[in-house]
Amino acid sequence: MQTILSPEFQNTSFGREAEAILRQCVHCGFCNAACPTYQLLGDELDGPRGRIYLIKQVLEGVPPTRQTQLHLDRCLTCRGCETTCPSGVRYGRLLDIGRQVVEQRVPRPVSEQRLRDWLRRGLASSLFGPALRLGQSARGLLPTTLRQQVPARQPAGQWPRQTHARKVLLLAGCVQRAMAPNINTATARVLDAAGIQTVLARGQGCCGALKHHLADAKGGLAQMRANIDAWWPHIESGRAEAIIINASGCGAMVKEYGHLLRDEPRYADRAARVSELARDVAELLPDIAAALSGRLRQHSGILAWHAPCTLQHALGLGGAVEAGLRALGLPLRPAAQDAHLCCGSAGTYSVLQANLSRRLRDHKLAHLQGERTADRPAVILSANIGCIAHLQAVAQAPVRHWIEMLDELMMQK
Ligand code: SF4
Ligand code: SF4
Repeated sequence: MQTILSPEFQNTSFGREAEAILRQCVHCGFCNAACPTYQLLGDELDGPRGRIYLIKQVLEGVPPTRQTQLHLDRCLTCRGCETTCPSGVRYGRLLDIGRQVVEQRVPRPVSEQRLRDWLRRGLASSLFGPALRLGQSARGLLPTTLRQQVPARQPAGQWPRQTHARKVLLLAGCVQRAMAPNINTATARVLDAAGIQTVLARGQGCCGALKHHLADAKGGLAQMRANIDAWWPHIESGRAEAIIINASGCGAMVKEYGHLLRDEPRYADRAARVSELARDVAELLPDIAAALSGRLRQHSGILAWHAPCTLQHALGLGGAVEAGLRALGLPLRPAAQDAHLCCGSAGTYSVLQANLSRRLRDHKLAHLQGERTADRPAVILSANIGCIAHLQAVAQAPVRHWIEMLDELMMQK
């Protein structure tokens, strides 16, 4: 798609990047078929091709409006369209640029701005954990709708004490650490069983995705630099062979550090190295499966599987968890239909676009849970805390990270 950038964007790094992405789009519209919001709303401007066109117009100098902003807000950033696109259009990156530009030109109503500020600051803050624990202690007294948003308190269990020659860093995360602390400890225990020691570097925090996807590029980049500073001594000394991430949404973000910090002389090389070393824990499944073979208790119930968009579309790891668990005698059952579609969680989307988010969740759960009692799963497994918490709020079965399932089934720890 030929684009003539408006003079204000012509000499900017993001303007040139957006132009290169726009040139790849041939306007075929194949992507619309994979887009959850296009399927729900049936409006061209709520599909990827229409949003690409809106961003092109803005970069060519057409002033964006609240309507432009709304169509971009409704995008889940699920990147299902990227998987479908035959021309390799990097839609997710284009959307990030488009949102930044529109955000600077279209003021939001005060109430909306306040909510977004609260999400940006509150979720990744150190106060989130204590606030959540307060909500959990009063959980039984809360009305149903509010109670659904507050997960029950979960014991984390022991962190393994053994040391191993093989060491990996683990992104501790922000929201996940407070909501489901067992995911990190289960990861460390399973890796320990595979002869790999998990190290938590001091000073790390949120991966930056919350702020980045809420068009706060500056805040997101500051969090990325802080993580690089925390990890770098372990990387430089050669002590850590990889950075393991057990929330696929965060993993997708860390994989982009190198690109997002490419113009910063102090961080460019380090960020590129960090992205190179970033691995979703599913990428260690061959090692884990070899170590745990014959060491797992049997599981007789149906294990339903929800593949997060960030795992299948952003990280390109569709099928990895299914293959690894199958090798361990734990076959997963994917959603009966539309397994490629988003569950509606998408970071803060479930708060900011609650109605669309709920509709997508209902659709996903209907295909995960089945219609007949005999089809009901014993557990729904996934790989991203956002999806897990979102589905768990109304699912009829427990929703857990797959690494927790392996941890629970290990016979000796
Ligand atoms: S499928 Fe790719 S090339 Fe075709 S309209 Fe969508 S983004 Fe453009
Ligand atoms: S990222 Fe997802 S919601 Fe957004 S345009 Fe692409 S397919 Fe649609």
